[in-house]
Amino acid sequence: MAEIKLEHIYKRYPGNDKDSVTDFNLDIKDNEFIVFVGPSGCGKSTTLRMIAGLEDITKGDLKIDGEVMNKVHPKDRNIAMVFQNYALYPQMTVFDNMAFGLKIRKMPKDEIKKRVDNAAEILGLTDYLNRKPGALSGGQRQRVALGRAIVRDAKLFLLDEPLSNLDAKLRVQMRTQIAQLHQRLKTNMIYVTHDQVEAMTMADRIVIMNDGKVQQVGSPDDLYNRP
Ligand code: ADP
Ligand code: ADP
Repeated sequence: MAEIKLEHIYKRYPGNDKDSVTDFNLDIKDNEFIVFVGPSGCGKSTTLRMIAGLEDITKGDLKIDGEVMNKVHPKDRNIAMVFQNYALYPQMTVFDNMAFGLKIRKMPKDEIKKRVDNAAEILGLTDYLNRKPGALSGGQRQRVALGRAIVRDAKLFLLDEPLSNLDAKLRVQMRTQIAQLHQRLKTNMIYVTHDQVEAMTMADRIVIMNDGKVQQVGSPDDLYNRP
């Protein structure tokens, strides 16, 4: 659990003549499930990638538990990210895919095994640990991607349209599974989607973005059900 603050965050990509993110402000409380929603190109991914450290922040501060994180290397942020295309290594087994982020952090082998086994158990992947991603269904692949994030024991999970490659039925199942995961792990999650229904069913608070700006922030009730 952590307190995360985005203070007047701007992003201008090199060569662009306009900001992709403009004056983004948000305080995230302990254990909160935040959803960024908005049309394609409104800056959701850019904001997430700045939090992960995969893009530089042009202006403004990202603070986690009071510490400015702008220049901290992604590896040292204690943030885990799940990508839309799963980003699994096809030549590695499920176990090795989940273990990879721990190996590069030089974690002892027995601790890695404990964490991977635990994540596999949570996600129902115990019987698939020796398979390669090519031999898994889309839903199973997405669970491996979640597993890779879970083993990190991160303060903050970032999920960038994680379900958009799945069919409608599976998407609904995985929504529930991710919501349960959030309850169980007691971490902060930021979930990006262009799907309003997804936002409404999953979020504690929704951040509605448009054209690089935050338009509204509130609970699903505040935003959609009140006159
Ligand atoms: P979303 O995730 O909401 O679809 P993005 O954050 O991907 O939006 O994009 C926001 C804006 O930034 C868009 O106008 C997009 O074209 C621009 N953009 C995204 N990535 C880059 C990049 N690497 N270089 C230049 N412009 C980019
Ligand atoms: P590097 O090679 O730059 O030291 P890594 O080997 O940790 O970084 O990972 C390669 C890239 O993927 C880096 O940009 C890193 O930030 C990113 N990355 C790796 N694991 C994660 C993760 N779990 N969540 C978010 N980003 C990650």
